[in-house]
Amino acid sequence: MKQTEQILFLEPVMKEVLWGGTRLRDDYHYAIPSEHTGECWAVSAHDHGDCLVACGAYQGQTLSRLWKEHRELFGDMEGERFPLLVKIIDAKQDLSIQVHPDDEYAKQKENGSFGKMECWYILDCDQDASIVIGHHAKNKEEVAQMIHEGRFEAFIRTIPIKKGDFFQINPGTVHAIKGGTLILETQQNSDITYRVYDYGRLTNGKPRELHIEKSIDVIQAPFEESAAVTKREIKQGQAMDREMLVTCKYYTVEKQDVHGNITMPQDKRFLIYSVIDGKGMIDGVTIKKGTHFILPTGYGDFTLEGTMSLICSYC
Ligand code: ZN
Repeated sequence: MKQTEQILFLEPVMKEVLWGGTRLRDDYHYAIPSEHTGECWAVSAHDHGDCLVACGAYQGQTLSRLWKEHRELFGDMEGERFPLLVKIIDAKQDLSIQVHPDDEYAKQKENGSFGKMECWYILDCDQDASIVIGHHAKNKEEVAQMIHEGRFEAFIRTIPIKKGDFFQINPGTVHAIKGGTLILETQQNSDITYRVYDYGRLTNGKPRELHIEKSIDVIQAPFEESAAVTKREIKQGQAMDREMLVTCKYYTVEKQDVHGNITMPQDKRFLIYSVIDGKGMIDGVTIKKGTHFILPTGYGDFTLEGTMSLICSYC
C-alpha cells in the first residue's frame, strides 16, 4: 500500500444552528446546508456527527468504526470512543453562556458520558470582538445568588480578542463565543453542555432550555485562568515555525507555520492536522485551508511542504 493511502482525510459534518452564518462556505469553501451554518465537525467520531474517510485505504468508513475495528491505527489506545473532536465554529451571533461538567460529574449525572475540556484558537474575528471566559463571583454562594437574581451583566467576565489568540476552557468555566468570531476548537469527545443564560432570547417564540442547577453545581468559583496554556513562544525553524499552545491531561495542541519543505517523524499514537491557512502538500498530496486529516500510528516520517498554517493535536 502506498504510504499516503493510510492518511485519513476526513469529510466534515456541517451543523445548522440559529447563531451560525455563511463563513464556512465563504472562507472555507465547504458545502453548507443553509445561511445559518455554525459548526463544521472536522474530526469527529461522535454519534451527533461522525466523519467519513474521504479516500485511501479506508474510504467511506466512519471514524468511529475505525476506532472500533482498527484500533491499531490509534496505537491500540484504550477507551470506548475516539478521544478528541475538532470543530470550526462560525459565530455570526452570540452563543448562549454555558459551562461543561468534568468527567466525574458527567459520569454520574450524564449516563457515563465524558466531561468536556476544550480550547479555542481564534481563526478570525471582527475588530471589536470579545468572548466570555469566567465570571466575577467570589464564591459558589455568590455564583448561585447572581444567577438566581439574573445579574448576568455583572456576573460574566468578557474580554477582548484578536486573531491568533488562544484559550483553554477547563470544565466548570463559564464561557461563550460572541458574534463575529471564527474559531478552531479542539475538545474532548463530548457534547454535554449546560446553558446558564441565553440573553433572554426567544426561539420560535420560546426561550431555549436553561440548566441552572446543573450549571451552579459545576461552575468553579472563584474563576481562575487555566494553567495549562503555555507561554506564547514561537520556535522559529528554517522551513517551519512551531508554537506549543497547550498541554493538558486530554490533549496537546500546537500551531505549525510551514514555509518550505520539512520532514518529521509520526511518533505519536495519532496526529490530527487541520490546515487553517494557505496550501501545500503532505507527501506529495495537495492540502489546503479547510483540509483535515489524521496520520495513524506507524505512518513513519512525513513531509510537509508549501506555505501554510496548521493546527496539530494529539494525545
Ligand atoms: Zn463549550
